[in-house]
Parts: sequence; C-alpha cells; structure tokens
Amino acid sequence: MVNEMTSEQAIALEDKYGAHNYHPLPVVLSKGEGVYVWDVEGKKYYDFLSAYSAVNQGHCHPKIVGALTEQAKKLTLTSRAFYNDTLGEYEKYITDYFGFDKVLPMNTGAEAVETAIKLTRKWAYEVKGIPENEAKIIVCENNFHGRTTTIISFSNDPDAQKNFGPYTAGFIKIPYNDIDALKEALKDPNVAGLLMEPIQGEAGVFVPDEGFLQAASEACKEANVLFVADEVQTGIARTGRLLACDHEEVKPDVLILGKAISGGVYPVSVVLANDDIMGVIKPGQHGSTFGGNPVASMVAMAALDVVQEEKLAANAEKLGIKFRKRLNTYIEESKLVSLVRGKGLLNAIVINDSEESSTAWDICVALKDNGLLAKPTHGNIIRFAPPLVMTEEQLDECCDIIIKTVKEFENK
Ligand SMILES: *Cc1c(COP(=O)(O)O)cnc(C)c1O
Repeated sequence: MVNEMTSEQAIALEDKYGAHNYHPLPVVLSKGEGVYVWDVEGKKYYDFLSAYSAVNQGHCHPKIVGALTEQAKKLTLTSRAFYNDTLGEYEKYITDYFGFDKVLPMNTGAEAVETAIKLTRKWAYEVKGIPENEAKIIVCENNFHGRTTTIISFSNDPDAQKNFGPYTAGFIKIPYNDIDALKEALKDPNVAGLLMEPIQGEAGVFVPDEGFLQAASEACKEANVLFVADEVQTGIARTGRLLACDHEEVKPDVLILGKAISGGVYPVSVVLANDDIMGVIKPGQHGSTFGGNPVASMVAMAALDVVQEEKLAANAEKLGIKFRKRLNTYIEESKLVSLVRGKGLLNAIVINDSEESSTAWDICVALKDNGLLAKPTHGNIIRFAPPLVMTEEQLDECCDIIIKTVKEFENK
C-alpha cells in the first residue's frame, strides 16, 4: 500500500496526522542504498545529510542490516533485569574501540547527553566534593545537545527553548571557541564539567581555532573539571578521524556518542568514561529499558566494524579536502556564497544573505530537483554531510551538481 503512494499523498498524511515539529524538504523517500536514496516516484538522489550524520556507513549497509536481522530472530530485549549473551561482548568491544574502562549504553543522543550530565554532577558531589546541589556545568553559546527539558534549558535557540520552562538550573554559558572566557568560568570552584561539541554541527558547522580543544582540555584538567565531549554528530569518522577530538589528540573524560554508532539502523547511544568517573553510578541510580539491548549491541558492533574495515575516516579526510578545494575555487568568483568550512565530510557553505531570507531553502529545493538532498541550518547556512562510503568520482559529480545549482542563484 505505502509503496503505491504518491509524494503528494504521503506529505498530506504527515501534515494531517503528525505533529508539525519538523519542516521537511518536499521529497518522500522509500529506498536507500549506500550514498543514494530514492523517492516514491523512483527518482534517485545523493543523500547529503545522512540523517544528520547517522548514516555515515551508507544506507542499508548489508553487514549492519545482517546483524540486525540475525539478532532480531534470536533475542531482541531482555531489559537489564537479567544478563544476556550479547551486552558484555558489546561492552568489551566498544570500550576497547574507544579506549575507556566503562560504557553506559542508552538509545538516543539526547539520552546520552542527559546521562553525561547526571554522571558529571554525581562525580562532582561524590569525588570532587562540591556541596550538594551547587554543581555547575559550563556549556557554549549556540550549542545543540538534543531536545529534553534539561538540555533545552541551556540552549540559546528561542525555538528550542521558548515556553518550555521552567528550566533546569546549574549551567553557565560561555562563547564558543573562547579560551579566556573558559578560564574565567573555570575559576568558580563549583564547576563540575565542560560540555561541548568539538565542532558545532547544528549551529552551522563551526570549527574552533586550532589548539582550542587542547587548551580547553588542559584548562579543565588544571581545574579538576570534567571535559565532556558531545561527539554525537562529529564522531564515528565524520570529520576525517574516528573522533573530532582526535584532530588535537584530546582525550575527553566523558565521551558521548550516538547517531552513526549504529549506522542509522537502530537508535543506539553511549556514554564512555573511566572507572574513577563511571564508578559513581550504582544499581538503581540510572537506566533505560532498551539501552544496551541485544539488537542494539550487535548492530553497533557491526557498524563500528564497517568504519574500520572500509577505512571511513581516511576516506572522509581525503574527500573533505577535495570538497572544500572545489567549492573554494567556485567561491572565489561567487557573490552569493561567502565561504565553505568544515572538517572531513562535515562541511557547510554560508550564503551571503540574511538568516531570514529563503535563499538557502530555495537552493536546497533546486538541489533536490537536480538530484542531491541537503537541508539548510539557520536560514543562510547549508550543511553538506554525505555518507562516508562515497567514492571520489561520486564526490566530483556532487560538486558539479552543487556548483551548477548554486550558480543559478547568483543573479536572482
Ligand atoms: C543529534 C545530536 C544530539 C541529539 O541526538 P538525538 O538522537 O536526536 O537525541 C545531541 N548532540 C549532538 C551534537 C547532536 O548532533
């Protein structure tokens, strides 16, 4: 039935029966494979969003889908009331993979961020010795960490925050990429942690100055404050390294991962930390019915295997350099696009226009017509994040499509 639906019908159904909490591009997808997706009319597109970097391994990767279907036939969920024969193996695998003593498995990115906040606070009271209910966590302006009540409490996006109060207290906001502001904030003895994205994704792919992550991590260490990295979007090879923090050889005290940890096949997220931190969580103090379930465990191991086997970090690094080079050649003579920025295959172009204008949206609609799907973030910024399994030839074709399409808007 669903497959016989036209795009118009599918859009009308979502419009009538779904809450209007998203504003999708008018395209209705029904199939995906590798770097491609197809709409219900059979038109093929390059996916340049990758479900916000969840599908780094490409759509419907056979190894990951295989792990999903095989485990789904055996055992899907036991809850954590009992042990099962997959979780321990997964916990060993992922802690070895990222180099931490312990993992706490959750499902969505926001849940993992919540977990990291709770962990940081508990550590502050029980290890650092901050007086009860006084702990503060430093966050950055224009952050995006998810959609729960606590997380939106420290957002400065009015859409995300307004009329969802009262808000959770205990957060200090500093400008992103500002080491002096960080050092000033760290003077407060009640600071427990610094929670930040090593590259701000939703804000429009803001890459901090070289050396900032290193300096921030050192400043935290000196102040006995946990450096909590939200790599839900930047992690898993997206920026040309396994983690964006690896570009500066920074090891976070608490690492948050989600999205591509399952290759977009299943909601999987984790918080990783060493024993001195994770040890503060005791039975009954935190949990999730689905967190670390057998399907999630097998899917995540397969998805992380793929990242290594197919050398996705190296490919993202190589193609990213090529992407920015080609775009920069065009931008030199462009009046419409002011810059391209990013790392690996997490990039964005900034349109020389106000945030309120519809130019970026109109360009994305034209890109769709030309066979490439991307989405504006913040009005005048378009993020480009294709699956990391892309070939150089495919990337070249995509650059052709993007440049040709944007050029059509130069004189509008
Ligand atoms: C997407 C994202 C989240 C939230 O993940 P969900 O799975 O949507 O809850 C958190 N942090 C960052 C940096 C993200 O990009």
